[in-house]
Amino acid sequence: MIEIPRKEIYRYLGYRGIEPDESVRRRTEDCVQKLCAACTPRSIWKVLPLSSPSENVLITGDMEIHSANLYRNMQGCEKAALLAVTIGQGVDLLIRRAELVSMTDAAIYQAAGAAYVEAVCDDVNRQIIEKAVKEGLYCRPRFSPGYGDFSLEHQKDFFRILEITKTIGVNLSDSLLMAPSKSVTAMIGMSRTAKPCVIEGCESCGSRDDCSFRRDT
Ligand code: SF4
Repeated sequence: MIEIPRKEIYRYLGYRGIEPDESVRRRTEDCVQKLCAACTPRSIWKVLPLSSPSENVLITGDMEIHSANLYRNMQGCEKAALLAVTIGQGVDLLIRRAELVSMTDAAIYQAAGAAYVEAVCDDVNRQIIEKAVKEGLYCRPRFSPGYGDFSLEHQKDFFRILEITKTIGVNLSDSLLMAPSKSVTAMIGMSRTAKPCVIEGCESCGSRDDCSFRRDT
């Protein structure tokens, strides 16, 4: 059972430096309970060899990526894990229904859904780290298409390589949006170079100031 971190929900709701009051907490707990009952987390991931034929170019599987940001983050990596995660369409139904009666509940479902899918990503990320450790490899933080100069167009590659629609029931629109909406794709570099990477990503990492692999935009 994956726990949805309440502090992340409140952060998405805009509570920074202030505590939500008792009524917001109660309402959030009620929404989280309904969300958990309505959602079915699913995931798929695959580890592939990674090569870099020239600066700012990476190849994994049949995907060729041109990205300075991703290249910096993946330097020295010999493999990459591609992953896709969803919490299913239940959250979208709850949001749509709530929008008709309570925009507050709709905002809480949005925030809780976002926190939930990230928590599922973290869980999959830990499984990938476990596999990497067994092979003597270290994982970099995950990096999603659409972040920095890693083009969102590569969603098409992720969908083809991981057969995302068939395996976890997520669809990709012509405008590259995923449905269900609380779905994530990402790539994780695996290297023999040890780095104190944290699952929360470079933004939360104590080593970010002097790390040459830092995920930057
Ligand atoms: S900044 Fe931290 S999390 Fe990011 S690549 Fe460097 S060590 Fe890893």
